[in-house]
Amino acid sequence: MQVNVCGCEMQLVLGDITQQTVDAIVNAANSDLAGGGGVDGAIHSAGGPAIMEETREKFPDGCATGSAVVTQAGLLSAKWVIHAVGPVWKGGQLEEPLQLMSAYRRCMQLATELECESVALPAISTGAYGYPIDLAANVALKTCIDYQKWHKAPQQIRFVLFSEGDYGAFARSLEQQVEI
Ligand code: ADP
Repeated sequence: MQVNVCGCEMQLVLGDITQQTVDAIVNAANSDLAGGGGVDGAIHSAGGPAIMEETREKFPDGCATGSAVVTQAGLLSAKWVIHAVGPVWKGGQLEEPLQLMSAYRRCMQLATELECESVALPAISTGAYGYPIDLAANVALKTCIDYQKWHKAPQQIRFVLFSEGDYGAFARSLEQQVEI
């Protein structure tokens, strides 16, 4: 599924984020930047050890929840990996939506600074961190669509969903937000 947002593209695909040919791939990292399962494990195993070496050297204190940092992308076909830290879901009353919005916004800002035309993102926080997919889809898409509207960048944003159910949740949310 693809929609036009003020001349930019917002895409949804079902697939593996490590296989995407884009300028930047976003990782759903933890605040220690220590690696883990899910997207994080897939990115480090496909990208090789250089990503973790650079992460340890440049960001020994990790990354705050709601923020993101950049490394090169090792063996991946992307130029950059943006390591974003989303919130752990604790019921939704503890600023999780604001933290998730902040993580996506920081990804967009970094992608713009790096002059990325295309960025692939996963559904941050919806795996091990337990954020309900429908709610996460609304926050993810609204934040990135608003950014594209205001900044006319990145030219192409691609959400890469890992299951049919996750894809469906993002597709419903996107349909509502752009009224197609
Ligand atoms: P978090 O700790 O932020 O919840 P996870 O990596 O556990 O991060 O999960 C985030 C989302 O990424 C989940 O919806 C999960 O199904 C999905 N996911 C896992 N592996 C991949 C992959 N290789 N490509 C794209 N999405 C993935």
